[in-house]
Amino acid sequence: MPVTRCLSPHVPLPQSRCERLDWYGPRLGERVRVIAWTCTCLATVYELCEAGGQGFIRRTVRFDGRREIRESPRWRTATARVMWTALLSGLVR
Ligand SMILES: [Zn+2]
Repeated sequence: MPVTRCLSPHVPLPQSRCERLDWYGPRLGERVRVIAWTCTCLATVYELCEAGGQGFIRRTVRFDGRREIRESPRWRTATARVMWTALLSGLVR
């Protein structure tokens, strides 16, 4: 059996000072550029996205062959990248 290697990062367990983001239903009809993403080996995948000059994090939860998509608040793109790093550090979720 070959060893499966994960090429994308995994979101770690939340740290004790982890902040909760607000998550909203996805906006439709937008041209979204996906900048970065977490590993798809887990049921929950996060993507760093940009649209209309703003950045946000998209969360997709897969269960029973369906997907539930939620989006973080919109930020300036620089702020979104800071939030993405915080997500990958277990500081926000
Ligand atoms: Zn993985």
